[in-house]
Amino acid sequence: MTYDSDILIVGGGLNGPALALAAAQAGLSSTVIDAQPEAAMTDADFDGRAYALALGSVRMLRRLGIWEAVAGNAQPMLEIKVSDGRAGEGPLSPFFLHFDHAEIEEGPMGHMLEDRYLRRALIDAMAASPQITVLNGETVTAQEAGAQGVGVTLASGRTLNAHLLVGADGRTSGTAARAGIRRTGWDYGQTALVCAIEHEKPHGGVAHQFFMPPGPLAILPLPGNRSSIVWSETHDTAARFMALDDAGFLEMLRPRFGNFLGGIALAGKRFSYPLNLTVANSFAGDRLALIGDAAHGMHPIAGQGLNAGFRDVAALAQVLAEARMRGEDIGTAPVLDRYQAWRRFDTATLAMTTDLTNRLFSNDNPLLRFARDLGMGAVNAVPGLRRGLIREAAGLTGDLPELMRG
Ligand SMILES: Cc1cc2nc3c(=O)[nH]c(=O)nc-3n(C[C@H](O)[C@H](O)[C@H](O)COP(=O)(O)OP(=O)(O)OC[C@H]3O[C@@H](n4cnc5c(N)ncnc54)[C@H](O)[C@@H]3O)c2cc1C
Repeated sequence: MTYDSDILIVGGGLNGPALALAAAQAGLSSTVIDAQPEAAMTDADFDGRAYALALGSVRMLRRLGIWEAVAGNAQPMLEIKVSDGRAGEGPLSPFFLHFDHAEIEEGPMGHMLEDRYLRRALIDAMAASPQITVLNGETVTAQEAGAQGVGVTLASGRTLNAHLLVGADGRTSGTAARAGIRRTGWDYGQTALVCAIEHEKPHGGVAHQFFMPPGPLAILPLPGNRSSIVWSETHDTAARFMALDDAGFLEMLRPRFGNFLGGIALAGKRFSYPLNLTVANSFAGDRLALIGDAAHGMHPIAGQGLNAGFRDVAALAQVLAEARMRGEDIGTAPVLDRYQAWRRFDTATLAMTTDLTNRLFSNDNPLLRFARDLGMGAVNAVPGLRRGLIREAAGLTGDLPELMRG
């Protein structure tokens, strides 16, 4: 078999490029294949999301040489306020959770960064790496693993070979499906409405999570007097709100948002993302590893999806680097089992925690409301517990891969 590279990565979204860069640092070459043309992915209107990047993820981006390119557009997250309420009450209910970065010594819990800056920086860094080949506008349609290596076939008819295949192809991963890996999950009946808004008053680096019966509303600070909104509603309501013009949309948002930041206006296009849970039953197969949403697509309630994907990236890159140093074939089961053992339990637990949080908070049952308000009050009153949750949100707990350590 002749090899085009050490690793074939299906999916050039966010996790695929991050893995290619991390693997390159370990001396491993990658070919990254994505169905989308590069011009579409770098269009500022391609994806309206902004990510709450935990400190662990920021550390990894710094080590990959990406952070310098995006730091000027990132907003440090200094505090998080979580409160319960109904539409019209605004995010200032008497029961709340308050996390302040001053309670941990590492600095801000994380940074908010818009997709357009992160994606651009990853694409530029891949272009600058001699270890990485990028094929845009190419769809993988078939794959075959053997004793010597793994091959993929593209829709164009071209074939490529490597030692290892990585599925970074998102929530409906064809790479996982073609390998016979089943998934567990369900539809949340919710759609996230995403947009950036401008507001009169400064946000002070404070992120708000406001729980309402149809789903959470997150108000996340961006540079300047701007915030990113992730607003979950039932599919029908979300479709109705998306169909409104900008003025009608803002009229629906205002009473939910409250007026604590003064007047608000839209600062760009609106986007919608249907929400579901989908976890692959295995993160490894025959010469195959799954990372990012291909392994675990979860509710954005805790802003942890990409952070979990970046942990997969850092863990897999470390496992592969160590295997290569020992002279092992990086596509073999003992190597891939080490990756799976490191990541699968942690991620399944995180996915279930986000699922439970969404169930507990996305309803108006008075008993549950009372219980969760008491719970929030109790957590808020215990500094040790609060500090533990801050460190968890900052991505500083558990068995941290080397790329995410300070
Ligand atoms: C509303 C919302 C808000 C979020 N906010 C946060 C947050 O604050 N913090 C956080 O950590 N996470 C957040 N997330 C989660 C985060 O967006 C995802 O985890 C992340 O984008 C997944 O990236 P990925 O690279 O794994 O997959 P994707 O971005 O889905 O990329 C998959 C790529 O694979 C390509 N592809 C698919 N099939 C093929 C094929 N056959 N051949 C070639 N290419 C193919 C696609 O074109 C695509 O580019 C949020 C999610 C949502 C929905």
